[in-house]
Amino acid sequence: MSGSVAIVGLGPGDGSLVTPAAQAALDRATDLIGYIPYVARVPERAGLTRHPSDNRVEVDRARHALMLAAEGRHVAVVSGGDPGVFAMAAAVFEAVEQGDPAWRRLAITVEPGITAMLAAAARLGAPMGGDFCALSLSDNLKPWDVVTARLEAVLRADLVVALYNPISSARPWQLGAALGLALEIRAPETPVAFARAVTRPDETLRVMTLAQAREAPADMATLVIIGASGTRLIPRGPGERPFLYTPRSVPAGR
Ligand code: SAH
Repeated sequence: MSGSVAIVGLGPGDGSLVTPAAQAALDRATDLIGYIPYVARVPERAGLTRHPSDNRVEVDRARHALMLAAEGRHVAVVSGGDPGVFAMAAAVFEAVEQGDPAWRRLAITVEPGITAMLAAAARLGAPMGGDFCALSLSDNLKPWDVVTARLEAVLRADLVVALYNPISSARPWQLGAALGLALEIRAPETPVAFARAVTRPDETLRVMTLAQAREAPADMATLVIIGASGTRLIPRGPGERPFLYTPRSVPAGR
């Protein structure tokens, strides 16, 4: 069994943010597996067979990758951002855990990528300068009451919160509910950022107060960052977006 699976993070979108190690793993691959828009980001070349698949079939996709590798193919499984953040790496290991015991002996590697949270933070300033956490707001894989219990706990802990998967056509109201919960726990003037399609041609960045945020539009390509009590704006010139940052230090007693 000399095949391999490389689970590769493609970063937030711009080609310059694909790491050299990720690119090398793509260059070695004989087969490319992933959600259609991520597979589309990798240029076609001779010797590379592409297997794009629809969303929400992650474990089937992972099994397919493992079966091809067991036949001796060198498979790259691609994710946007980092493959370990709400993405394919865990799906591959889930398939390994449940599947053919021989799959455990395959060469399986994970190539990290720049996750949306860090790409968005870099564009905005330094909102993750203190303690922070990342939550997926999707209730496809966990019950909604688990999502809200975790969100409430981290809001009370005064962590900066990055919300992945804030909304989709099947989940239209969850983001509003999450921001409503935040407004019960955090000050209405807390900064909230909506970072959409970061590093892609259609990137948009908006920063507003928590009180304004419930009305703000978001979609599947948006990452929402809710500030902590220390998170603040540094105003700049007219028409210039302020810097958003969270100081590294926290005053005693907070
Ligand atoms: N593995 C990915 C996350 C997958 S979950 C990563 O590490 O970035 C998908 C969610 O990620 C989207 O709903 C959105 O919240 C966020 N996301 C992915 N790419 C993004 C980008 N370029 N800009 C803003 N948010 C993004």
